[in-house]
Amino acid sequence: MSASSPPGARRSRPVVANWKMYGDRRMLAAWGQALEERLGASPPAPVVVCPPFPYLLLFAGARRFALGAQDVADEEDGAYTGCVSAAMLRDCGCRYVIVGHSERRTYQGERDPLIARKVAGALAAGLRPIVCLGESQAERDAGRTEEILVRALEAVLDTLGPLGVESPELHLAYEPLWAIGSGRPAGPEDVASVHALLRRRLRAHDATMADRTPILYGGSVRALQARELRALEDVDGLLVGGASRDVDEFHAICRAWHDRERPQD
Ligand code: PEP
Repeated sequence: MSASSPPGARRSRPVVANWKMYGDRRMLAAWGQALEERLGASPPAPVVVCPPFPYLLLFAGARRFALGAQDVADEEDGAYTGCVSAAMLRDCGCRYVIVGHSERRTYQGERDPLIARKVAGALAAGLRPIVCLGESQAERDAGRTEEILVRALEAVLDTLGPLGVESPELHLAYEPLWAIGSGRPAGPEDVASVHALLRRRLRAHDATMADRTPILYGGSVRALQARELRALEDVDGLLVGGASRDVDEFHAICRAWHDRERPQD
C-alpha cells in the first residue's frame, strides 16, 4: 500500500464472529478447526473470533484468525466477582474485545460512561476495542439516530482524551438494534450515511484518528450484505452474530468481504 493510497485503503478491515452465549467445547473446537482449514494460508484481512469466555483458550493455537472477547471489565483487578479484566484477556491470547454491545446495554444495563471506561482499560492493556453504537427502532422512528450515535461516541472520546487520538487500536461498530438478529440488515444507503456521520465526528476530533479508525457494520450480515457493503468507502469491516455459527456461511462472508479488492462481479 503506497503512502499516496486513500486513507480507507490503509485501514484494517476485519471480519469478526460474535458467538454470543452459544455452543459448547466440542462444537467450538470443531468450528475453529473447520474455519482454519477453510481460511487457507493467509486470509487477506483479519478474521476475528469472539467465543464465550470459557472457550477462549480453545483457540490459543489458531494461526489464521485472531481471538477476541465479547466483553471486558472496567477495573484492572480486584474484588469484582464474575468479571474478567483486560490483562486476563491478553493473557489468554485475545487481541480484540467487543465493548458496549447492545445486548449488554439492554440486559446488563451498561451505559455510556461505563462503556467508555471499559474502552480506556482495553486500550491501556493493548487490546483493540470494538465499540458498538446503534439506535433502537423507536429512536430511529423518532429521527434520533444521529443524536444517539453522537452521544455514545462522544462519551467514549471524551473519556479517552489523548489516548483515543493517539491509539491506532480503536475500532467502532455501527450496530442498529433493529437489525441485530432480525434477519433485516440495514440497507447500504443507511449504512453509508451513518458511517459517514461517524467518520465526520471522528474528524472533528482529529483527522489522523478519523483516517485510521476502522468502522465496522453489524446486524444480520450474510454473504449477500458483505458483497454489497464491501464497496462502501466508510465501511471497513463486519461484525457477524448469528450467521457466524455456521462455518460455511461465515467463511462465505469472509470470502465475499475479502474479494473487495477484486473487480466487482
Ligand atoms: C451482533 O450480535 O453483533 C450481531 C451483529 O448479530 P446478528 O449478526 O445476528 O444480527
